[in-house]
Amino acid sequence: MAVSMAFIVVYDLREPMKPTVYSIAPFVIIALFLGACAPSGTVPNTVPNITMPKSETIAPTVKSEKHMIAAANPLAANAGLEMLRAGGSAVDAAIAAQMVLGLVEPQSSGIGGGGFMLSFNSANGEIAAWDGRETAPDGATPDMFLNLDGKPKPFSHARLGGLSVGVPGLLAMLEEVHAEQGKLPWAKLFQPAIGLAENGFMVSPRLAKMIAGTSDLNTFTPTKNYFFNEDGTPLKAGQNLTNKKLAATYKTIAEQGAKAFYLGSIGYDIGQTVREASVNPGTITSTDMVAYRANKRDPVCGPYRTMLVCGMGPPSSGGIATLQILGMVQKFDLQNTKPGNLQAAHLISEASKLAFADRAAYIGDPRFVPWPEGLIAPDYLKSRAGQINPAAASGKAAPGMPGMTGHNKLGISDESHGVSTTHLSVIDSDGNAVAMTSSIESAFGSRMMVRGFLLNNQLTDFSFRAEIDGAPVANQVGPRRRPRSSMAPTLVFDADGNTVAAIGSPGGSSIIGYVAQAIVALFDWGLSPGEALSMGHFLNRGGAIELEIDSNAEILKKPLEDMGHEVKLKKTTSGLHFVGMKDGGLVGAADPRREGVVLGD
Ligand code: GLU
Repeated sequence: MAVSMAFIVVYDLREPMKPTVYSIAPFVIIALFLGACAPSGTVPNTVPNITMPKSETIAPTVKSEKHMIAAANPLAANAGLEMLRAGGSAVDAAIAAQMVLGLVEPQSSGIGGGGFMLSFNSANGEIAAWDGRETAPDGATPDMFLNLDGKPKPFSHARLGGLSVGVPGLLAMLEEVHAEQGKLPWAKLFQPAIGLAENGFMVSPRLAKMIAGTSDLNTFTPTKNYFFNEDGTPLKAGQNLTNKKLAATYKTIAEQGAKAFYLGSIGYDIGQTVREASVNPGTITSTDMVAYRANKRDPVCGPYRTMLVCGMGPPSSGGIATLQILGMVQKFDLQNTKPGNLQAAHLISEASKLAFADRAAYIGDPRFVPWPEGLIAPDYLKSRAGQINPAAASGKAAPGMPGMTGHNKLGISDESHGVSTTHLSVIDSDGNAVAMTSSIESAFGSRMMVRGFLLNNQLTDFSFRAEIDGAPVANQVGPRRRPRSSMAPTLVFDADGNTVAAIGSPGGSSIIGYVAQAIVALFDWGLSPGEALSMGHFLNRGGAIELEIDSNAEILKKPLEDMGHEVKLKKTTSGLHFVGMKDGGLVGAADPRREGVVLGD
């Protein structure tokens, strides 16, 4: 079981002596966080604070009464809304929106990739974590991303072609969730995407920019033919684009289900394309496709102030790291700091540094590398928070679980910094909620296309080195292993059991910081969703503090340096999407850095 009863207890008021976890709706949560709110260090509430950006750059906060979806593209959000209006569940809306995203935002996600979903089922109060992560084929080896001299291949080379492609998991996961929580027929969910693929849609400015900016996108002929005009120029924003091949693929899957993908000729074509790639051929076979299974897992949950926060456990590091950061900073009095206050940025950054040290050491595929559940235990987080000096930066953080052996021993992991991926959030009129992050890893994945969709390069999320300084790395490559992710689809519940946040973001390992900062901004600083998603980012992924360049966060550079931090200015293209219950209705926001919208009734 992924959640320890010791730190979050949910009392059923009808049976007060019988605590339960994961069941929210009819219950009142009493979060017992021993000493959690007691500040263990105080620093003057120093200026400066991040002032909010100019009002024209703050995303609107959208309100609705019945249902709401936030997604990275208006056509996708609209497909989701159409399902909600037709009486569909949050899961139905998420699937319809995802199919459109695979068409109109193909650089980010699709059925050639994977994803994770957190779902809240209002009928039985269950919170579930769905794992549709790509899986390494049987032919994968620990040294597959090393050159003959034993050094890691350059990332840009390793991701290109068949070697980096994991067996896609998105479709298997969606079909399983639909079987449990869908209300509309599976085939109906594909209709908006099929219509758009056949009749065409307008290439968005972001898609056009990414096509033009991806130098190796013309490596493989099917991909080149799709994203470039006949004269070799990249597609421009506003051009009408059809995808007849994807329409045909979606029709087959709509009629026959995911088995047409895993057991049929689509799966065969994926294997053949991967194995016969002209660059970096891989090993996926039909056997690998047939063997794929999505997993329904326990969420990882923990208290934040008076709320319950639930996220995705391993193979994603997203949920654990987010909970660790929140668990550490709740020992401090952030509620009384101003948004983006220097002290807050320092504390969140130090907590994040500690969380990333644990992430590197302990998180891999849980089937092969059991993760220490103590990582999110209150006592552990209390002691980790005690390592934070409230007034000055510490040096490099070390992982904190004593006595870990074997696979979980030290050993840092290589990092990739994806800029694609997508997140959508939905709440329906019955109170069902979905937070789903899906991905093909890098923008345009492996650059290879099969039947109208791109294949992922998710296997480059593994550590390229299986061993460092003689110690095995938790996130090493191997047959049927799932690469460690940072995706952090998250659901937050208040003490009355309301889903006050369904949230997540793309952004590689920066996702963890984006989500943690947004939760603090929403619930400690009381910012509106639009403000919370628009404020400048401050991140720490284990080294320097990264402040969002050209944002209001830049103001913190000098004062953080004065506290001893190394500070870098960085472009941080988050894509946070948020929907939450508030005052009997719903509120939502979409990150102004991408093309998302919020729609509802
Ligand atoms: N592959 C990354 C992960 O699973 C996501 C990449 C991105 O967000 O751009 O964590």
